[in-house]
Amino acid sequence: MKEKQHEGLLEEKRLFFPPEGFCSKAVIQNPEIHELGQNRTKFWDEQGKRLDWFKPWDTVLEWNHPFAKWYVGGKLNAAYNCLDRHLEGARRNKAALIFEGELGDRRVLTYQDLYREVAQFANVLKSYGVVKGDRVTIYMPLIPETVIAMLACARIGAVHCVVFGGFSAEALKDRIHDSRSTIVVTADGSYRRGNSIPLKANVDKALPVTCINNCVETIIVVKRTGQPVDMQDERDVWYHEVMKNVSSVCPAEPMDANDMLFILYTSGTTGKPKGVVHSVGGYMVGVSTTHEWVFDLKEEDVYWCTADVGWITGHSYLVYGPLTNGSTVVMYEGAPDYPEKDRYWEIIEKYRVTILYTAPTAIRTFMKWGESYPRGRDLSSLRLLGSVGEPINPEAWMWYYKYIGGERCPIVDTWWQTETGMIMMAPVPGITPLKPGSCTIPFPGVHIEIVDPEGNLVPKGEGGYLVVREPWPAMLKTVYGDDKRYEDTYWSQFGGAYSTGDEAKWDEDGYFWVIGRVDDVINVSGHRIGTAEVEGALVDHPSVAEAACVGKTHEVKGQAVFAFVSLKEGIVIRDELIDELKAHVVLKIGSLARPDDIFLTAELPKTRSGKIMRRLLKDIADGREMGDTSTLADVAVINFLKKNIDAQK
Ligand code: ATP
Ligand code: MG
Repeated sequence: MKEKQHEGLLEEKRLFFPPEGFCSKAVIQNPEIHELGQNRTKFWDEQGKRLDWFKPWDTVLEWNHPFAKWYVGGKLNAAYNCLDRHLEGARRNKAALIFEGELGDRRVLTYQDLYREVAQFANVLKSYGVVKGDRVTIYMPLIPETVIAMLACARIGAVHCVVFGGFSAEALKDRIHDSRSTIVVTADGSYRRGNSIPLKANVDKALPVTCINNCVETIIVVKRTGQPVDMQDERDVWYHEVMKNVSSVCPAEPMDANDMLFILYTSGTTGKPKGVVHSVGGYMVGVSTTHEWVFDLKEEDVYWCTADVGWITGHSYLVYGPLTNGSTVVMYEGAPDYPEKDRYWEIIEKYRVTILYTAPTAIRTFMKWGESYPRGRDLSSLRLLGSVGEPINPEAWMWYYKYIGGERCPIVDTWWQTETGMIMMAPVPGITPLKPGSCTIPFPGVHIEIVDPEGNLVPKGEGGYLVVREPWPAMLKTVYGDDKRYEDTYWSQFGGAYSTGDEAKWDEDGYFWVIGRVDDVINVSGHRIGTAEVEGALVDHPSVAEAACVGKTHEVKGQAVFAFVSLKEGIVIRDELIDELKAHVVLKIGSLARPDDIFLTAELPKTRSGKIMRRLLKDIADGREMGDTSTLADVAVINFLKKNIDAQK
């Protein structure tokens, strides 16, 4: 039976045009830019020129399905593009990083400062025997030394492998092992809500007591919190000590465009994380172009990306994209509610931030706390807002637009993945009208389609599997050490297109609406219902802050909707509320999507990167043993849900 799609999100008809005066100043004003992008190789050949190359490329793309080589024959260095090339002119003394620590400490590094520190640390790495191609694990708080360490690796051609500082010793161990790193850069600890969290102690736990082969020989430790740590004589050194009296002259290694730049593990929302490999040339062209165009970047912007560098968003849009483009980047170490729930708004007010890039999970949390927090601060410097990581439901989009953007800032909802390296779908804000909840259309030079299981294009107004039809410059090179997994996971279905693992719909205007993960889509009596649609309908109710929906096995319907809902602060639970919420879903989507069960909870289980982990909720709804929980932010949340739901049965 052919599965049916229903309307759902496609009912969302609101359209927002860029504010007056925005378009005439926008970086991209040419409405034909998407058409120009259809000549993909020409388009990316042109964009390649935005970087500084030691040697130009001979061929823009060699495509040997599923392996692509971009800018073949070209030689460049990522750190050189982020630093050296800005030192000639006025940017030399421009702030590259404005760092705000959780406790309120502040550091500003100009491009010249950052260049010097990177060159010095690159020399330190060399002195510990690190050479081109070696892997270096970076397990750090969000502090300037993390960026310095990444760029120092890039400078000498070492491959960095950043592991988010919130991960446990166990998760770190797997990643050090998988990447076969021989050196680890870490800190004594990191601050979180005023507490210090151990990092070095986790590295100690992650490493084997006796070293057999391929083991970590050196650990470089940044002093951040000052908490006590064990330093092993032969192996462990302090960053501030090894940086003393080191030369700041370190030539940038000319890298082949297709050499590895870094390995990064995916968030682990759907299963075991994959070691995604990115190479220098295509990645740098992709992130530089998208950063400039999607964020409408101007020389004077103060750009703040709230992501941790442990995620791809931090790599592409806190480090490589913005620094290549010579922008001023704000980085904040800590939690959004420390010491108060207006910390983000305080930072925007303090540094006069003009562009904010954050995630739906944060926006929904701010909604839950209420608008009095942003209202108490001056956010008038903002001119553009971004969102990434999950579908942003229209209600959260409207809240962001109204209370943060003051109804004057376009919102760029950016769809992309660790694997894609760069933003793949997003508005180009001077020319693309916005629809709340849609990431709009593919970026110029990117070819995305929605297809059926055989890989045939589905007509507009319908939905299916989201795929990328043609190679793109920042695409992953492979899964580290596992070409077969790369091919099987991403390129073996849908007539050889790249499979994203997401489902989406497209509307009559050709706008894309990501409705959820393929694995999470709920199938009620043969109708495929996206998690984003039901969750969006629930969040549309004035009492609801956040929702997660899963398919629970049902004898007749196949699956029934089971919803987990968290309410806004101050909402009193009434007897009728559950029925009211069910009715609201029926009103917004139809009776098909009516949840059989709604369970109220203070928190939803999320990954460390803030995404809802539906597969565990599905296990709970079906009364199964739970799968892998290692990438969860807080296991207590899921254990609480399991206990309470089991008790109800
Ligand atoms: P894993 O692949 O290990 O399960 P993950 O998919 O969460 O983890 P990421 O690469 O960090 O790892 O996330 C990419 C995914 O995030 C996308 O496939 C999509 O499901 C979701 N996503 C990111 N941005 C958006 C967006 N703007 N709209 C909708 N979904 C988004
Ligand atoms: Mg994924």
